[in-house]
Amino acid sequence: MVQTQFPAAGTEKNKVLEQLQALRGEDANWRDGRTWSLVYYGGEEIADLTRQAYQLFSQENGLNPGAFPSLRQMETEVVSMTADLLGGGSGTVGNMTSGGTESILMAVKTARDYARAVRPEIHQPEMVLPVTAHPAFSKAAAYFDIKPVYVPLTEEYRADVSVARRLINANTILLVGSAPAYPHGVMDPIEELAGIALEHHIPFHVDACLGGFMLPFLKDIGEPVPDFDFRVPGVTSMSADLHKYGYASKGASVVLYREDEYRQHQFYVRSDWPGGLFASPTMAGTRPGGAIASAWAVLHYLGRDGYNRLAESTLQITRRLQEALIAVPGLHILGNPQMSVFAIGSEEVNLYAVADELESRGWHMDRQHLPPSLHFMVTQAHRNSVDAFIDDLHKAIEEVAGHPEAYAEGSTAMYGMVGSLPDSSLAHGFMRDYLSSMTRKS
Ligand SMILES: *Cc1c(COP(=O)(O)O)cnc(C)c1O
Repeated sequence: MVQTQFPAAGTEKNKVLEQLQALRGEDANWRDGRTWSLVYYGGEEIADLTRQAYQLFSQENGLNPGAFPSLRQMETEVVSMTADLLGGGSGTVGNMTSGGTESILMAVKTARDYARAVRPEIHQPEMVLPVTAHPAFSKAAAYFDIKPVYVPLTEEYRADVSVARRLINANTILLVGSAPAYPHGVMDPIEELAGIALEHHIPFHVDACLGGFMLPFLKDIGEPVPDFDFRVPGVTSMSADLHKYGYASKGASVVLYREDEYRQHQFYVRSDWPGGLFASPTMAGTRPGGAIASAWAVLHYLGRDGYNRLAESTLQITRRLQEALIAVPGLHILGNPQMSVFAIGSEEVNLYAVADELESRGWHMDRQHLPPSLHFMVTQAHRNSVDAFIDDLHKAIEEVAGHPEAYAEGSTAMYGMVGSLPDSSLAHGFMRDYLSSMTRKS
């Protein structure tokens, strides 16, 4: 039931808190490792620390760094430490943002405005990006009037470098690669893409939202991780999410630029506002102090050795899950995923039906398409849930094989419908209606 009227009178504090607890009743059960996305859990001690750090600064505002030297120092340190982790040099600069999407929006807007300054002959800017790049890039393209030009994948689910090279033209203002991309957890060929960017003198953004706080630590513990950061000549900007494998509270990411020459084009300033001289580094106005403090706290609390330990443990859980999954007849892992995010595909099993069946058994599943697959993101929350999952997976596959007709509806029908539509406008209408219904009272 949804209350639709503004509350006439206040409610006692304890009652409000009780109601909040009650509201969580139907939420996805991430604590017991029954979800495979959305919450990046590093264990209870880290969760407790980030909560406390957030609470300490939950009222402070990072909008005006002059008023809160505490936040200014924390943000400066978080950005510098992240730049250090990702191979930045003495000229590397950046800012904290509310998340990967804002970091990416800023990087794309910055590339557009940099091009306006140094290549004014471009009137219709284009961005070349792999189809697997996060939708935050196409969202940025839509917001900032840039034409997205998609690079297809090779059979290994990585951006096809030779096609990328051909898609670059006189209007290209930015090339993008992911380390790794969200759908399959596979890394694009960053060095090759960077080489093309250098050849053509265009900025190159590496999206390490997912890998920024995982790949360096996997490298530390001896995993074969190819270079993907500012150590690669030609990489001009990067995004890395503190609120993913950095384990900070939600609302924390970093956007970085090799040189301030680029970042100058990120800022918004206005000198004739009656409210005073206005200068804002990112999209947000008011910026939550809690998110900054939480990120600062967890980076210091864990340090490189703490992150290394977590990376090793997360990788072990991932391997255990992957081995059990590929032992299931008909299932395979797509491409060669580098870290703790991957997808499984199948030519024989109806994965959408299996996902529906798993959800009826209390798991929250993430369906993907083109080709059909199920997505997995592994954290410490899955330490004790892998065996139960594999058990239920076997049962779900059996159940679906025994009664395929019972699964003709559900997500099989939905993805089938989207796949069979002659053009995307129908699907888009359907998706907009869905979003609209999510926050409508009836
Ligand atoms: C999560 C993610 C993003 C977007 O980050 P948000 O914090 O959800 O806005 C961008 N790129 C990749 C690779 C991601 O995994």
